[in-house]
Amino acid sequence: MKDLAMLFEALDFAASKHQFQRRKGSTETPYINHPIDVARRLVGAGEEDPQVLIAAILHDTVEDTETTFDQIATKFGAEVASLVKECTDDKSLPKAERKRLQIENAPHKSRKAKCIKIADKISNVADMKFHAPPDWSLEQITDYLTWTEQVVRGLSGVNEILESEFAQAVAEARKAHPH
Ligand code: ZN
Repeated sequence: MKDLAMLFEALDFAASKHQFQRRKGSTETPYINHPIDVARRLVGAGEEDPQVLIAAILHDTVEDTETTFDQIATKFGAEVASLVKECTDDKSLPKAERKRLQIENAPHKSRKAKCIKIADKISNVADMKFHAPPDWSLEQITDYLTWTEQVVRGLSGVNEILESEFAQAVAEARKAHPH
């Protein structure tokens, strides 16, 4: 029961942190839909560890809002903070470098962080199928899909369901945006 209370605490925290943000996609859905989708996909793939689900809900708070790892550690504990950290890019670096580092660092993540990151990529790629950002060219979409495949290759070997869902999401997004 304590875990469930903590999970809802995380949902409330993330919803409030992301409250003024919208997803980049054409439908501009509230940002919180994305972390909820990531957590849902983890549960659907049999990942039911509360720390993983709480970290999934919080995974974009430090990267995209005014949240610190210390705040997360105080509220949700050191393991959750460390998982969120593993899923957070260093925003002081240029975008191209951040993308390169995601590929390079993927194989060195913990098993739990790998699962969250794969579910995150599935969620992003699934959005790309019908709701790509309106200002993105076909080439940008294709490059993005190729990049996510490179990252997920480095995360593989942790959960077959997530990995096959990712492959399917990429195939469907490619079909929706034929080259
Ligand atoms: Zn995310």
